[in-house]
Amino acid sequence: MVGPDKLDRYRAKRDFGSTAEPRPTRGRRRKGADPMFVIQEHAASSHHFDFRLEVDGVLVSWAVPKGPSTDPRDKRLAVPTEDHPMEYASFEGTIPHGEYGGGSVIVWDVGVYRNLTEHDGAEVPVADALADGHLSIWLDGIKLIGGWSLTRTGDNWILVKRRDERADARRRPTSTQRKSVLTGRTVDDLP
Ligand code: MN
Repeated sequence: MVGPDKLDRYRAKRDFGSTAEPRPTRGRRRKGADPMFVIQEHAASSHHFDFRLEVDGVLVSWAVPKGPSTDPRDKRLAVPTEDHPMEYASFEGTIPHGEYGGGSVIVWDVGVYRNLTEHDGAEVPVADALADGHLSIWLDGIKLIGGWSLTRTGDNWILVKRRDERADARRRPTSTQRKSVLTGRTVDDLP
């Protein structure tokens, strides 16, 4: 059952009279569609990329300081953050300074994903994989295509590109492809 409880932490951190971020009503489970992912670049007091996966009607989220890499040798720290509402996937704008997460946000990449997590040859549901601390997914985005793994290490997680045909040690997309996939703006273009 998807209820508003999953988004209580999201609500509690924000003053919706001050921020233009979406005010969630409740989790929204979309039927029949592939689950989506979104990566938002966030020029907050500490610059990071927010990596979000649709799971059971909300966007399960991590803050990745260096952003995703296409090089399987890179282990990218991913700090779990509160679940976000589905409406957040299209949010771009500037959160006022002094508010939680103050700074500019763009949609850096968006698409759908497939669960690749298996145990003894059987698919492990995403929610179970997250509870177990290991998830493998195939991203079909605009900038990112291929397999990535998320593995829990203590309080944090590590995001790593899987060794597949889309691995590329030289691409560095977080540096070379900085424009929003929705509006063509970079975080520097926002006020
Ligand atoms: Mn953020």
